[in-house]
Amino acid sequence: MKKTILITGAAGFLGSHLCDRFIKEDYHVIAMDNLITGNIKNIEHLFPLENFEFHNHDVTKFVHVAGDLDYILHFASPASPIDYLKIPIQTLKVGSLGTHNLLGLAKQKDARILIASTSEVYGDPLVHPQTEDYYGNVNTIGPRGVYDEAKRFQESITMAYHRFHGLETRIVRIFNTYGPRMRLNDGRVIPAFIGQALRGEDLTVFGDGSQTRSFCYVDDQVEGIYRLLLSEYIEPVNIGNPHEITILDFVKEIIQLTATDQKIVYKDLPKNDPKQRQPDISKAKEILGWEPQVNRTQGLKKTYDYFKSLSKEDLIKSEHKDFSEHIRR
Ligand code: UDP
Repeated sequence: MKKTILITGAAGFLGSHLCDRFIKEDYHVIAMDNLITGNIKNIEHLFPLENFEFHNHDVTKFVHVAGDLDYILHFASPASPIDYLKIPIQTLKVGSLGTHNLLGLAKQKDARILIASTSEVYGDPLVHPQTEDYYGNVNTIGPRGVYDEAKRFQESITMAYHRFHGLETRIVRIFNTYGPRMRLNDGRVIPAFIGQALRGEDLTVFGDGSQTRSFCYVDDQVEGIYRLLLSEYIEPVNIGNPHEITILDFVKEIIQLTATDQKIVYKDLPKNDPKQRQPDISKAKEILGWEPQVNRTQGLKKTYDYFKSLSKEDLIKSEHKDFSEHIRR
């Protein structure tokens, strides 16, 4: 019998790659998205398949799915500082009310549920690299608070359903991930820099660029999530690439990759922008036998090729809106 999986946020960047993966593994995939930040183009190629169905639905409202369900992946959420700013209430609701609905559905269907958490639960971390047992340093009322606190609540309610109802739950803490199908205008650093290079604009480094990130290619991320879902491990697991780089060194890599002759311009650092971020992936290595396989040169090349393949129209539409003043407040 084919297994059935419900994927929320299915038209988003990670959600759509997960749809591809589970179709490849011969699952019946029920994809759900309300298309606020998702893009139907990311999953259009799956529409003709018999094993694929799409439901345009907002998971903060009661979620109904007919028939049996074996697994749920809850990946619906805005996921960039610009989106939190534009839709803060929806961000809070999808992490809290949405998660509650999906946990209820999982309980009713006797399905295993994996929820997408984030390195943002560590906030601006005082421990480096971040291990899963670090409790974090989050400003509840800062611009990122709506996302960080929704995700922290999401972890709490998921563990409560596990402990109180015996629900089979999994929690992945996702660190910065990139690849094809990222939204060019979501303000995240990789689409921002590549979009600027393609449009012939200067590249905007926030702060002095000494802050660090560690970027994981999407195929590696999906493999980690797949293994975690099928593992027997209940507590949160970091999935990310531990190869850390400063944003200043990173922008230089993008300049080299895109051969742009634009210059770097410096803008103020957004409020509560984490100074450093690097996952400790010992747990994922030990429990899932997982570690990243794709290095940044390979991953960025594939990502750049994707962005280059977009139409001129998409590129213009994605013109970098400078929301940075608002993020700084
Ligand atoms: N950043 C930057 N220029 C941009 C967009 C982002 O220098 O045009 C910086 C941002 O301040 C942060 C890092 O790049 O330090 C990663 O930002 P992103 O929004 O991609 O992710 P997050 O901060 O959530 O890790």
